[in-house]
Amino acid sequence: MNNLIERAEAWYCQTAPTAQNPLIVIDQLFENLGGDQDDLHEQLYRSSLKKFLERIVQAWVKGQIDNGSLYAGSSMYYYCKHCGLLSDTLPEGWFMQGPSRVCKACSDMKEWLKDGIALANHLGLRPPKGPYDDKCPFDVNVVKGQLVKT
Ligand SMILES: [Zn+2]
Repeated sequence: MNNLIERAEAWYCQTAPTAQNPLIVIDQLFENLGGDQDDLHEQLYRSSLKKFLERIVQAWVKGQIDNGSLYAGSSMYYYCKHCGLLSDTLPEGWFMQGPSRVCKACSDMKEWLKDGIALANHLGLRPPKGPYDDKCPFDVNVVKGQLVKT
């Protein structure tokens, strides 16, 4: 399990995947990782990492709401700093506690999250930095229509 990230990196360098759809690249990567796939813990680990990568893709496709563009009194939307999906919604003027900037799915990954981030870096995937971030690492239109399930 510990060398999965290295194997993934090696696969990416050797294969230089040409698919334009990052979801296809992610599928190809996980099909070609080798190793012990019968181990339950390993299966959970892989599934957790794969879903993390898919969340980043999904975040770009879904986009983010610009709180500044909403009418007064609207709820405020906050996004996960790791995957870019919605992490919290708070009523405007809510000062009791700051919004969560890590979604439940990323938080549940615990120590696997750093491996997910490392893997995303190898694939050149990063989450949107905000509603006006237009530097998507892939063509969103290629992915639309094949939206990953939540
Ligand atoms: Zn997240």
